[in-house]
Amino acid sequence: MDIYCPRCAEPMDITEFHTLGEVGSIGFGGIIPETPEANVPEGSSYNTAKDAFLSYGCEALGLPKCEKSDDPKAYIMSAVGDLFGDDLDGLAADLEDFEALGLL
Ligand SMILES: [Zn+2]
Repeated sequence: MDIYCPRCAEPMDITEFHTLGEVGSIGFGGIIPETPEANVPEGSSYNTAKDAFLSYGCEALGLPKCEKSDDPKAYIMSAVGDLFGDDLDGLAADLEDFEALGLL
């Protein structure tokens, strides 16, 4: 299931947040290398990644800089992202329902 970047509206699979810090996953500064010196700052976690993503978009997770979009998905993410707290699964499920109903 996906959520959307609150800046550019690109989809982001929520499993990326669960695997933060694992080799090959995304992390702050880019893809986590196979070296032990992964580029994830100490203290990074699911919630840290989620909060950074909701505040700064893709760029916070080391992905290429994203541009602010007028896409309604970006607006909805910035408006309701914080309301779901740690429940990205619930947010992604509701977004999927909105899309199925043609609201997104
Ligand atoms: Zn983005």
